[in-house]
Amino acid sequence: MTKTITLSQGNGGEENNELIKKIFFEHFGNPTLLKCEDSAIIGSMAVTTDSFTVKPIFFNGGDIGKLAVCGTCNDLAMMGARPKYLTCSFIIEEGFSVESLEKIVLSMKKELCINGAQIITGDTKVVPKNALDGIFINTTGIGEVEMQNISSNSISTDDLIIVSGDIGRHGACIFAQREGIDIKSALQSDCASLWLVVEELIKNDIKITAMRDATRGGLSAVLNEWAKQSNICIEVEEKAVPISKEVQGICELLGFEAYNLANEGTFALAVKKEDAQKALEILKKFEICKNAQIIAKVSNEYSQKVVLNNEWGSKRFLDMPTGELLPRIC
Ligand code: MG
Repeated sequence: MTKTITLSQGNGGEENNELIKKIFFEHFGNPTLLKCEDSAIIGSMAVTTDSFTVKPIFFNGGDIGKLAVCGTCNDLAMMGARPKYLTCSFIIEEGFSVESLEKIVLSMKKELCINGAQIITGDTKVVPKNALDGIFINTTGIGEVEMQNISSNSISTDDLIIVSGDIGRHGACIFAQREGIDIKSALQSDCASLWLVVEELIKNDIKITAMRDATRGGLSAVLNEWAKQSNICIEVEEKAVPISKEVQGICELLGFEAYNLANEGTFALAVKKEDAQKALEILKKFEICKNAQIIAKVSNEYSQKVVLNNEWGSKRFLDMPTGELLPRIC
């Protein structure tokens, strides 16, 4: 590993995982942590934490406050847990606008309301000008598990993989805005809270094996993590993966793969085959999941690999993303 920290070690991909393994797991390792789930399950409670550093702070479809609540509540939801309590820490740069701070707090309030969660404790730090860029937020979430045994370690050939919406919108939107590419209103971040969707799946007794929000590292990272953790091969039908023409356009312009771009309100689900169609119907009832699709099956064709089958019958491996990707997208 490198002697000093590089941006790629925060990319949600290969280098990020190496850092986590070699430094954090090495010294903090315990059975709960090593499960590598979206949140830790302790009895009937789920706990997760996340820090938010997004740039720009206000983007098309959300802001750092909305992101901070969605990100943390979604990590609880992905483990079948109802978001209940959040803590929140603000680290603010001297000179930051109070009006902007209040705008961010109001976005958080709105999103908390959607989740039925509340902030129960917090912290405020102010650092001198230039010690950080504007504002960083950390949120920790506590949820109540309503469906047990959801795990990225138990996906099998009995499952099908669904993606809840078109991929890559958050990453593409942040990148376009940062680079000053004129995107009009067509390209919006998918930033959204997922608990209500998950709740509906649980209420309808969908046999969910695993769920993961496709944040940093995008769909590629999720599917590769699943292939490794569950020791399976995931075979994706490329044509089935929903990608908007705006995201496709940004990808072609800049040479990105939509699979590697971050999402903040789009998730992958592994559900038992017999429930896949019903799960899809439930998802499509929600505006934020109207583009949901069944995209992959699970096999033993290759060990711990993700394969993309294209419509002309050829295939390629979809690898874990590497390199710098886009720093500060969340
Ligand atoms: Mg997550």
